[in-house]
Amino acid sequence: MSAPAAPGRVPELLVLKVGGSLFSDKRGGGGTDPRAVADYARQVRDLAAARPGRVVLVTGGGAACHEVGRTVDPARDPWSALALTAPAFAVRWEWTSQLRRLGVRAVPLQLTGLYGEHPDGTEETHPAAVRRLLAEHALPVLSSDCALTADGTLRIVSSDEAPALLLGEDPYAVRIVALTDVPGVLTGPDDTSPVLRRLDAADPAAADHLLWPTGSWDATGAMRGKIDALAAHARRGAQCVITRGGRTGDLGHLFDPLEDWPEHLPYTEIATDRIV
Ligand code: ATP
Repeated sequence: MSAPAAPGRVPELLVLKVGGSLFSDKRGGGGTDPRAVADYARQVRDLAAARPGRVVLVTGGGAACHEVGRTVDPARDPWSALALTAPAFAVRWEWTSQLRRLGVRAVPLQLTGLYGEHPDGTEETHPAAVRRLLAEHALPVLSSDCALTADGTLRIVSSDEAPALLLGEDPYAVRIVALTDVPGVLTGPDDTSPVLRRLDAADPAAADHLLWPTGSWDATGAMRGKIDALAAHARRGAQCVITRGGRTGDLGHLFDPLEDWPEHLPYTEIATDRIV
């Protein structure tokens, strides 16, 4: 079954992913930068205060999660992805603590209990806890985690994949914004290159030739992993956007129709005209 998308629609739910590159050095290792988390937490507070119960935060894993992610080896131990639980919780807790200090009802949730696969391979989601928290005007805090696969083992679910938990009921209601350290998918070799404005979610491979080589320190495929995850969400009706985060930014426009976003702000939209 397919249905036409609704251009210009204002999202009912905003899933804000704050990329690990904005508060952690994936290449250099180490932990999160608490001052960077504090700066982004203030922006998240303002956004959530303006739209109570309509924002879900997904935090990138940062260096510690990528470090553990690189050790995961299902061929050696089908349950090795479980090791991600501890560093993923630590980063969710860092955000939660900072947000609580700012007066936000932030609540960290472990994706493992909410998302996975049935033995028949279909997706199994339990979003009710998230919806209930939103109804109480809380801010659910998700991250990468491990999840059950159809064959009864565990796999890593990246933070870019995590919003899948919230798709389904009203496919057009969700906008997913991934803030990262680049202004979108760049069409050239560096940050000064033009940004690809729109990528058709039905054909994400169209961006393959634009992607830079990924370092071995990255456990989830950097921009390649992000595009694939967001294109999958978009094929289910979500409107997905990649744009740059800034420590002194203001996220107020994220609920506006894309055509009303500030002129100077580059982004890549990943969307499709028809969902399946
Ligand atoms: P995480 O997913 O760990 O939370 P993140 O969301 O901040 O981190 P990455 O997954 O590292 O971000 O993806 C952004 C990175 O993708 C950029 O820093 C850049 O190195 C890489 N990249 C590869 N190809 C491109 C491209 N064509 N345009 C822009 N960035 C690209």
